[in-house]
Amino acid sequence: MARAEHLSELVDLLVQRGAKTGHIRRLLRAWMHLGPWEERSNDRYPKRVAEFLPEFKSRLQGLSRVLPIESRQPDSMKLIVGLHDGECVESVLLPRQALCISTQVGCAVGCVFCMTGKSGLIRQLSSAEILAQVAEARAIRPNLKKVVLMGMGEPSHNLKAVCEAIEFMGTTLGMAHKEIVVSTVGDRRLFEVLPTLSVKPAIALSLHTTDNEKRRRLLTNAAPLSVEEVLESTLSYAEATKYPAQIEWTLMAGVNDTFEEVERLADLLEGRYAMVNFIAVNPIDGSPYQRPSDAHMQDLITILRRRGIVATIRMSAAQDVDGGCGQLRARVVGRQSEVQKENQ
Ligand code: SF4
Repeated sequence: MARAEHLSELVDLLVQRGAKTGHIRRLLRAWMHLGPWEERSNDRYPKRVAEFLPEFKSRLQGLSRVLPIESRQPDSMKLIVGLHDGECVESVLLPRQALCISTQVGCAVGCVFCMTGKSGLIRQLSSAEILAQVAEARAIRPNLKKVVLMGMGEPSHNLKAVCEAIEFMGTTLGMAHKEIVVSTVGDRRLFEVLPTLSVKPAIALSLHTTDNEKRRRLLTNAAPLSVEEVLESTLSYAEATKYPAQIEWTLMAGVNDTFEEVERLADLLEGRYAMVNFIAVNPIDGSPYQRPSDAHMQDLITILRRRGIVATIRMSAAQDVDGGCGQLRARVVGRQSEVQKENQ
């Protein structure tokens, strides 16, 4: 089975056949449904590029196939994106012309409240596979404006592919840099590389607690950085780019939802360029983690707002179709293996 190529490798194949920057840009924009493929107007391309076009198109289109799952939540839709080797990842179309995409199949961080974390890392996505999710989503919703790298996987564990995808979205696709959001649990390699990119995305930090010992328990295999260190690196980057840092906090009743802990979060964020998104945990089968009550979550929000910090409560998107953190993928994979057993 052929491996999925990085976008840069596919572009090299065009360059070797004499394609110039304009040719490459036109073809990649056609993949993203931003223009026609124009296979018949071969005079637009050098002869060897024109001869290669059918294969190039089929390589890009063969990267993925999509199974859309409608959600009752307005403007949300779950996309199961099947890959060339039978693996699949999840993307989610969100309100306000946004899309959430995955960067890995599975994830090595192993957050205790996350279904994706339970499988461990299965494999990396290539940059072309990361972008294939955008192409599939644009075919369904052409007016996409924002892409968040917040689906399955930890972007800093697949840095080369993630950086290629970010550069592509901010240049060839012409997206505003602040509309590309990279979400991380915090990793020195990511903090070092982001300021060096020509396209500087906004950053979201999955913090979940201000207690170092608790964070090590909840995010089992996250890089061994302290809360203070990941927060300072995130806030410094946000202040340099002038896009506010999004601090993500999955709320679990009795685990990380005390007034004291949220007061400490306010101490760390007061006067800094950041906003807080609380996300009520999406209960998964066999998991002890439950959502706090709506009233309690509202009280936590009030603590932050009184200290001048913008804070919101979000539902995990498309929760009615097992939208959170790899649950839908787990169901699909589960069904696939049941079908395989039945057929044996
Ligand atoms: S929450 Fe994110 S970082 Fe944690 S295991 Fe799940 S996919 Fe990985």
